[in-house]
Amino acid sequence: MRLIVASHPSSVEHDTSRNHPERPQRVNAVLQGLQDSRLEIDKVLSPEVDRKHLERVHDVDYINTLEAFCSMGGGALDMDTIVSSESWKAALTAAGGVVAAAERLEGETDATAFVVARPPGHHALSDRAMGFCMFNNVAVANGMLRSKGQRVAIVDWDVHHGNGTEAMVKNDPDVLYVSLHQSPFYPFEGLITSMDEEPKGTTLNIPMGEGTAGDVYREAWGSIVLPVISQFAPDWILVSAGYDAHRDDPLAGLRLISDDYGWMASELASAFPTERTIFVLEGGYNLDALRDSARATVEGAAGLFQASEPLQSPEGSFRDLDRARSVVSRHYRL
Ligand SMILES: [Zn+2]
Repeated sequence: MRLIVASHPSSVEHDTSRNHPERPQRVNAVLQGLQDSRLEIDKVLSPEVDRKHLERVHDVDYINTLEAFCSMGGGALDMDTIVSSESWKAALTAAGGVVAAAERLEGETDATAFVVARPPGHHALSDRAMGFCMFNNVAVANGMLRSKGQRVAIVDWDVHHGNGTEAMVKNDPDVLYVSLHQSPFYPFEGLITSMDEEPKGTTLNIPMGEGTAGDVYREAWGSIVLPVISQFAPDWILVSAGYDAHRDDPLAGLRLISDDYGWMASELASAFPTERTIFVLEGGYNLDALRDSARATVEGAAGLFQASEPLQSPEGSFRDLDRARSVVSRHYRL
């Protein structure tokens, strides 16, 4: 299988200050993992995003303010989100990479794509930077696909709930947002009951308690996430691929192993065409975990992967899934 890898050198020049966990080496770790995989790599230089795609999801005032702030040397946009003068170009190419990957995959067979970029995107709101994110890269590509009448499922396995993405797509019945995330945890949103607040049930939040491991993730994936995606029947899947639910991640408290990402990607690929699936880097702050998990993801998507057994979750974790199932079964057949 061919792997389209979209990236741009500016993503390692985005300077978040010394000792910040969201650091340039993350990009090289992921690129290394993809390079180590057994897929045929096709590198694409991520272009700067077209302004019209940005303006579909971000306020014009916000875009202009961010550009001016970076051009004056940057600084702290909030407690966690630090930018430099180079960040403007990095942000444009991060969003542009996802749009380019979607355009590139059109007409492809036996391929998939991975966008390796910083800053990440899923906490960014239409008018505000948040949680290391400037533009919501996945939401920008979603907006482009929606403008062509495509139905999209956004699947977010970053350990944090993608509050920005959910806020941007929740009123669109042709976009399914799925998030598995640690809860309670930053940004303190993403309850399972969100599904009941929408007429078409197009938000699927599956909160995971601290310590949850791959056994529960695989059960959730197979018995809830995949049936919901297949009933929703999207034209495209955008995966917000953060790797901070890994047990070695320094910021979060879940216990996935690299093989769990390979397992999820492989199950997804057996239910949905890989040439309509784009993996987009979000968080993940342990470099070895990033490298190994990114490799597992694409080898899983390509069917080249035999996953080892997952770790075991604390007692009671499966009961939380029963609660999720009872909400979801009011909207989908499980
Ligand atoms: Zn995260």
